[in-house]
Amino acid sequence: MTGQDRSDNIARGLRQAEEVCTRHGVRLTRLRRAILELLLAAGSPVKAYDLIEQMRGKGERLTPATIYRTLDFLLQYGLVHRINSTNTFIPCTGNHDEHALLMFVCSECHQAEELDDPALYESMRARLREMGRSLRDNSIEIQGRCEKCARE
Ligand SMILES: [Zn+2]
Ligand SMILES: [Zn+2]
Repeated sequence: MTGQDRSDNIARGLRQAEEVCTRHGVRLTRLRRAILELLLAAGSPVKAYDLIEQMRGKGERLTPATIYRTLDFLLQYGLVHRINSTNTFIPCTGNHDEHALLMFVCSECHQAEELDDPALYESMRARLREMGRSLRDNSIEIQGRCEKCARE
């Protein structure tokens, strides 16, 4: 990704977040916006602790509780996703329904991406239901090797 693409992505992500917040009648406060911007700029999953460090680098000291509260807000409105297996966060890049998330996580480079495949998501969920199982928080996380790692 070029620098220009990246700053376009950040601008687009922030604009979408503003729209989501307006639609729900909630505020994208300065802190929420700053954390989302860091996640958009990162290009790979980020740990909460690293967000604290990055904010400290900008002269702002945040407690873990503040960071988690901010992340919870962003999670609640589908602006970011939590990767459970690595306990990291990425900005939402998909245009999926907020109740259907299919996440692919590379167990070698830890890159994570949303798979835009509603049919795959639905068939897995339906099959689990037949087996008497259900999903936690409507998300499926798949561990594997990404295209790049599989080539090496
Ligand atoms: Zn998403
Ligand atoms: Zn990989």
